[in-house]
Amino acid sequence: MHTITALEVMDIRFPTSLEKDGSDAMNPDPDYSAAYVLLRTDRPGGIVGHGLTFTIGRGTEVVVAAVEALRPLVVGQPLEAFTSAPGAFWRHLTGDSQLRWIGPEKGVIHLATAAVVNALWDLWAKIEGKPLWKLLSDLSPAQIVELVDWRYLTDALTPAEALAMLERLAPTRASREAQGRASGYPAYTTSAGWLGYSDDKIRRLCREALAEGWTSFKVKVGADLEDDRRRCTIVRSEIGDGCALMIDANQRWDVPEAIAWMKALAGVRPLWIEEPTSPDDVLGHAAIARALAPLGIGVATGEHCQNRVVFKQLLQASAISFCQIDSCRLGGVNEVVAVLLLAARFGVPVCPHAGGVGLCEYVQHESIFDFICVTGSMEGRMTEYVDHLHEHFVDPCVIRRGRYQVPTAAGTSIEMKKASLEAYRYPAGKVWKNLKAGTPIPKH
Ligand SMILES: [Mg+2]
Repeated sequence: MHTITALEVMDIRFPTSLEKDGSDAMNPDPDYSAAYVLLRTDRPGGIVGHGLTFTIGRGTEVVVAAVEALRPLVVGQPLEAFTSAPGAFWRHLTGDSQLRWIGPEKGVIHLATAAVVNALWDLWAKIEGKPLWKLLSDLSPAQIVELVDWRYLTDALTPAEALAMLERLAPTRASREAQGRASGYPAYTTSAGWLGYSDDKIRRLCREALAEGWTSFKVKVGADLEDDRRRCTIVRSEIGDGCALMIDANQRWDVPEAIAWMKALAGVRPLWIEEPTSPDDVLGHAAIARALAPLGIGVATGEHCQNRVVFKQLLQASAISFCQIDSCRLGGVNEVVAVLLLAARFGVPVCPHAGGVGLCEYVQHESIFDFICVTGSMEGRMTEYVDHLHEHFVDPCVIRRGRYQVPTAAGTSIEMKKASLEAYRYPAGKVWKNLKAGTPIPKH
């Protein structure tokens, strides 16, 4: 029996706003950031669990404070309390009655939960010597069902139904694992289409991405219709008819505006419109989905979907054609598994949200697990990829010819290099000190 002895949390920020990397219609100047958690135990060998939740600058200190509020629920607990019943432990973390008041299961406290939960999974996977996807894929169907907090889900999916879905695919897991290792998992790129990029830069990035083997591209829209029409037309003409084009409004519109705007952009033949309106507006998404279906445009959302209950409603209301889980907006791995099961129940493909810092590292595991254990299919699925900040990770994700390569290192791939954690720590790291002093930041 070993004990979790310490939880440390850091405020890590990258000054990405200087280059407009990550700019969109709602977030013109993000500094990609993370509340970054370390979990230590009294096990010999000194394995440390790393976890993060993604933020975009100001406010990261609030998430850090929320992680600190969760510390008493974790430190002093036997490690086996998590590894023997991860679902029960998740409920322990989200069930504290006083902390629950500032959620429940949404907002800052849920972002904090994700960082802690994901650190627990990193710790467990490293102890087992497996990448996260493999740890999950080696669980029995009953163990996978146990990961999920089934409260509020059973009108859409019961544990028994989930168990039957998982048992159907269990005998053939090994062949899909081999297929995944051989072929990787399909991805799409958002790196060419940030809102703050010039037309020339978009053109150049499209050409470079095509040369690298990308076949699916996403572009940010929503600030100015004529500007969007021009930029989307540039991308469509660069990538040709054989490639998929997705567009992302980052919650910019009201419902009627979303429908009108998308009708105006239908000529570029988008596969989906992402986050057309408020992430809380389930019925609004459903109305947009109904209006755009005749044009062949699907609705995608999820990066700001606060928990499994809202995902359940989006699926029940036929409001989304693509389900975009987020590995840190949801309460970590356990709740992601809940949404993978729900999406499979409704036959909606999961195309995870990624980018930011560390999200690509996380979702690659979740997608390959989805393929091996939950859906058995890569058809119509692809996972977002953004080419930023991977150099700060010890075992970053690897992309080849537009596909995530299956990770092989133990853990969740989220461990950042020590030097990066020190340099980008806010506000005391040397990058921020130099920035405040007006010194140019070296290109990383
Ligand atoms: Mg998005």
